[in-house]
Parts: sequence; structure tokens; C-alpha cells
Amino acid sequence: MKKNGIRTAGNRGTRGPGDSSKRMKILKFGGTSVGSAERMRALVKLINDGVPKIVVLSAMSGTTNALVEIAEALYAKEKDRAAGLAAALEKKYAAVAAELYAGKKAGEKAGRLLASRFGQLRTLAAGKFTGKKEREVLALGELLSTALFHYLLEEKGVDSVLLPALEFMRIDKNEEPDMGYIEAKAGSELAKHPGKSLFITQGYICRNAAGETDNLKRGGSDYTATILGAAIRAEEIQIWTDIDGMHNNDPRVVEGTRPIAELSFDEAAELAYFGAKILHPTCILPAQLRNIPVRLLNTMKPEARGTLITGKSAGDQIKAVAAKDGITAIKIKSGRMLLAYGFLRAVFEIFERYKTPIDMITTSEVAVSLTIDNRANLDAIVAELKGFCRVEVDGGLTIICVVGSFTAEKEGYALRIFEALKAIPIRMISYGGSENNVSVLVETGLKRKALLALHKGLF
Ligand code: ASP
Ligand code: MG
Repeated sequence: MKKNGIRTAGNRGTRGPGDSSKRMKILKFGGTSVGSAERMRALVKLINDGVPKIVVLSAMSGTTNALVEIAEALYAKEKDRAAGLAAALEKKYAAVAAELYAGKKAGEKAGRLLASRFGQLRTLAAGKFTGKKEREVLALGELLSTALFHYLLEEKGVDSVLLPALEFMRIDKNEEPDMGYIEAKAGSELAKHPGKSLFITQGYICRNAAGETDNLKRGGSDYTATILGAAIRAEEIQIWTDIDGMHNNDPRVVEGTRPIAELSFDEAAELAYFGAKILHPTCILPAQLRNIPVRLLNTMKPEARGTLITGKSAGDQIKAVAAKDGITAIKIKSGRMLLAYGFLRAVFEIFERYKTPIDMITTSEVAVSLTIDNRANLDAIVAELKGFCRVEVDGGLTIICVVGSFTAEKEGYALRIFEALKAIPIRMISYGGSENNVSVLVETGLKRKALLALHKGLF
């Protein structure tokens, strides 16, 4: 059966083009997994097991940050600083290439690649710098890492195909993945290589509705992996990082955190959004829509079990705690809210107009408090709200989010959570919004204390 250009096998999904008996897997590797010649060589061993797969790579660690800095310098018209940063980056790549390959041929290819890509960077740096140029600059990291890695596979005699993500990854006018297009194009790109079972492609980069080079925002390689996994109906999507799965608390703050063996899509999405840095916040959705399992694995410890994210919930349980900083609370009070309808609509409509997402909401009869993390339009929002209510703004706050399955029928979750937090002053509480999340708002200065208290009390 052929649909939208990709082969489907009923609801069992697309089969790998190379091996008709197996479906493909998607394996995404982050910056540290390709961060040095040594890591790249280890990666060849890790992926070379005959299982049909598409390997999605990030830029080498530090590269995207360096490209962002170069773009900032160019916007600020500091051409010399930009040129210095670009030269330092080129030097770093030359050193990696010199170490990476055993033979002359691959080394020469890499030399030509670097000359061409860094030449492109210098061309982009000339003249007036624009948003379009910036996006082309940012795309260089993934274009470099995938090409260097592909030459390594070639040198080692590992049969593989480099798939250009700019040929099939596309976002629409609303910057959402254009799934119909991606399905059709990814399918036709794969179909060009019958009999092949190892594909490499760039994470993060895509084209926009105007056909220009664009990206899926920082950390977006995870999103590439799940979008592509959904598009080809992969058997499984693996996100390989340098930690052994999602942990039950923030390992940078709390000692003795443990990886969570299993999460539902909803639980994982809450955790990714509310602070677990290991996953891009929107990347769960495409996998969830097609019910494709997502596994979080550790390149430094490939044998570790990691975290498996599926459509199943493991039942009533408190699974994890996460924190999201940089939160601003807006308290809105109006006598007109008393027994009135339409008030909340009037409030929310303002946030909608300024494209500002709201994270937490609590209401009383005469007031509503809500939180945002994007302050870009805060002043304008507050000015409009002041047209019909009293407004107070409070910054420097953190949402602490407890994730699990809290079914409405079961008692005791709130008690356990607030017993643990009894010594922490709390600004807002949100419980019952979903079965997967209890959130509290605290001053950022109390975050550490709150995370430690919850760890002690809950796990
Ligand atoms: N290289 C991009 C970044 O650093 C995308 C990614 O790594 O996921 O944000
Ligand atoms: Mg990442």
C-alpha cells in the first residue's frame, strides 16, 4: 500500500526500505555523543549492528552556542569579533578532522567540507546581517557533524546514506511541523535508496513555509527525531544523551536521584516542559500521536536501561519532581469578576493576542493569578489588563512540578506532597488540572530547599 509517497503496511506502519521484515528505528544523538573524534568513533560501534535505522545527529557540543555568538556579533556589527570566533571554530573542527580519520582520502574530503562550510560562513558574515542569514549560520553545526560522521562511516566501510534534512523537514506558517509534507518527502527520500538500512540525517534544521533554511529552536534535534519517527512510523525512537534516562528529581540540585524506568507520554511531556532538561518540551507529541515508544538512553553507558516512554501509564504513583525557573506571576483582581461570566475570557484573550502562553492558573471569586515564562510582551499585557482590573506582577519565581498519575478516586497525594513541603512558603497551588501534575509556585531562592524536601518526602 502506498500513501503520500511512503510505504505503509496497514496499521503496522512503514517498513524499513532495506529490510522488508523489520521496521526502522530512529536514534538521535546529542552534541556530547558526537562531541569529539573519540566519541564519534564510539558512535560508529554503537550504531553498526545491522538494525535498520535513521541516525539523527545534533551539532558537536558547543557548536550551536558558538554560532549563536557569531550571529550576535554580526547583529552588533562587530565584524572582527565574529571573524575571530569563526576562525576559532574552524580551528577546532580542523583539529577534530585531523584526529578523526585514519586515511588520507577521508581527511581530504573533510578538508574540502570545512573550507566550503566556513567559506559559506564568511560569505554570510559579509554585508548586512539578517534573520534569514542567522538561520543559515545556525544550520552549519548539524551540516558539519553529519558530514564528518558520514565520512567516518565511509572510511570504516560501513554502508550508509546521508539524508539531507532540508529536503524533507519543513515547518508551516505557524512554525508547526508540516506532517503531510514530511511524511511524503521522507518516504520518497528513503525510497531513493533501496536495500540500504543505515541513514544519517541532521537534527534541528528544516525549511520554513517560504522555503528558507530554518530550525526547530534550541534543543530541537529531539523534535526532529520524534517528527521523523512519526512520519515514517518508526518502530521506536531512541534519544541518546549523556545521562541514563529521565531522573526523578533534578540531578544538578539533589543527590541520589534515580532514573525513572517507565513514563507515560503525558507524564514525560509534563516533565520535559517543567524543567527536565533532557528532552525538548514539544518532542513527545508526535510520538504520542502515532503511539511510538520513546526510549531515553545514555551513550556513555549503553547497557543502562534508561527510560521508556509509552502510551501506558504505570498506575497510581508519584514519579518525579521537576522545576522551571524564570516564572512571573500576574495577579488580577476585579470587583467585576464577582458572579460574572466572560471575565476570564477577557483576560485570556489578551494573552492570546500577545502570543504569551500561560503555565499555571488559580482563581478565587474575585481574583485570578496566573504565571508566564515569556516576559517579552509583559508590559503591553499589563497595560491592557489595567484597563479593567487591578494588576500585580511578581518575578523571580519557580514552578515546582510533581509528576505522576494522580487519579481523582485516590486519596492522599496532596497530603504527601504538602507534608513534604510544610516548611516552604507557597505562592500558588495547581492540583486537578490534569491527572499527571501537581504544581506549586515558590520563590526561586527556595527552589533547592523545595526539591530536597520533596525528594526526602516522596521517594
Ligand atoms: N544543535 C542544536 C542546539 O544546540 C540542536 C540540538 O542540539 O538539539 O540547540
Ligand atoms: Mg538536547
